[in-house]
Amino acid sequence: MGGGRGASVNAEVQYEPVIGLEIHVQLKTRTKMFCGCELSFGDPPNTHTCPRCLGLAGTLPVVNAQAVHYGIMIGLALGSQIAPRSQFHRKNYFYPDLPKGYQISQYDVPLCSGGQLGEVRIHRVHLEEDAAKLVHLGASGRIHGAQRSAVDFNRGGTPLAEIVTEPDLRSAEAAREWLSLLRTTLRAIGVSDVNMEEGSLRCDANVSVRPVGSSELGTKTELKNMNSFRFLAQGIRAEVERQSELLRAGQPVLQETLHFDPSSGRLTPLRSKEEAHDYRYFPEPDLVPLEATPEMIEAARAQLPELPSARAQRFAGALGLPAERARDLAFRSELADFFEAALAATPNGEPVALANWMQTLVERLEDGADPAGSLVSPAAFAQLVAMVSEKAISREAGREVLDMLVAQGGDPAAIVEREGLGAISADDGGLGDVVAAALASDPDAAEQVRAGNMKAMGPLVGYVMRETKGRADGAEINRLIRQQLGI
Ligand SMILES: [Zn+2]
Repeated sequence: MGGGRGASVNAEVQYEPVIGLEIHVQLKTRTKMFCGCELSFGDPPNTHTCPRCLGLAGTLPVVNAQAVHYGIMIGLALGSQIAPRSQFHRKNYFYPDLPKGYQISQYDVPLCSGGQLGEVRIHRVHLEEDAAKLVHLGASGRIHGAQRSAVDFNRGGTPLAEIVTEPDLRSAEAAREWLSLLRTTLRAIGVSDVNMEEGSLRCDANVSVRPVGSSELGTKTELKNMNSFRFLAQGIRAEVERQSELLRAGQPVLQETLHFDPSSGRLTPLRSKEEAHDYRYFPEPDLVPLEATPEMIEAARAQLPELPSARAQRFAGALGLPAERARDLAFRSELADFFEAALAATPNGEPVALANWMQTLVERLEDGADPAGSLVSPAAFAQLVAMVSEKAISREAGREVLDMLVAQGGDPAAIVEREGLGAISADDGGLGDVVAAALASDPDAAEQVRAGNMKAMGPLVGYVMRETKGRADGAEINRLIRQQLGI
């Protein structure tokens, strides 16, 4: 039948995801967006409130200048245009976490427009206030059997920057990587704690799919509540799969908001997606337009550090690190800072060797720990790497010394001296004797190496390594074996 054929044709269509992100960033100001209440995380509920952030009648908002400053810094870091005059609007909706009945946000004239980070274009960045936090009480919170929720207004009014990207991402993995770049950038400029678990960085995704090769956009859904990098990728993958299956089956995708449930990995409809006009946006009558003067913009620019993407390019370009290693360091500024301090501590520092040893150092520190907080100083670390490079100690001994540095700190040269880890070289004669012993202990292997079978080298080198407890240099052992066999 015709219908059957149509379905089978659809089943062969390959769909490509089209993904845009909306990121809410809590700004690390001292006080809230429109009142003087201090920001708090983890304080007892409702201890940071005032008539203004509780939305009591007769109160007026005052814009937090530090939040504006941070908003401009974000815009500059993302290459956006800063609007000389932007406007706050009221976004009207009813929900228990919004005592005023509206959120003060920005609508048609945001603070920042356009820009790009990595491969992704930025649509806009605007300032707004956070809603209060709803706490859903468990069984103990039930009254007359009804489920109850409480409101903690400490969070209500926290300054937020909302960053909206263009739909430039084409896979869940790309979305996750890009969000990581954004987080690194925001952390480097110091405007936010950017902690997804604590909610200071929250990411929603707009997802649609379209047949590969098509340039039209399909109907998109909005995914909420993906509060970790893993969940973001999981949620997007599940939604791409769901939409592709619908289209293959000839069903439409509905425009709606979906809630991601981390425990099941499933998406459930939250509400049909609102249109902007549902919010009855209108200009906030209690605030004059926000003026970003050239002086304010220059002050923000002056505070921008070297951004992680620029740092990664410098590490790869000027220092010659492999691109991936350069990114690994530059995207964690604490690693990049330590690396640069170590490089500065060595007159003839070898960036590539130092970067490779940074990897080893990171593996030995506790998960995610900042090396600056460890017992290893950049200077000691640099000295250790130099000793290995100069073959004063073997690579294996270097790892041992690094372990001791991590455990108790100290001076690498002193540790090498104390532990007798100095390299045994041909010069002092000791290594030559061990190599001779290795050849004598395994005449078969020696004969095979002489005959050109280099695989037989393994047991001979292993013998020397064992005898010298890893203090000999591998290349040096190789050279001596060849020399003694006359090849
Ligand atoms: Zn307040």
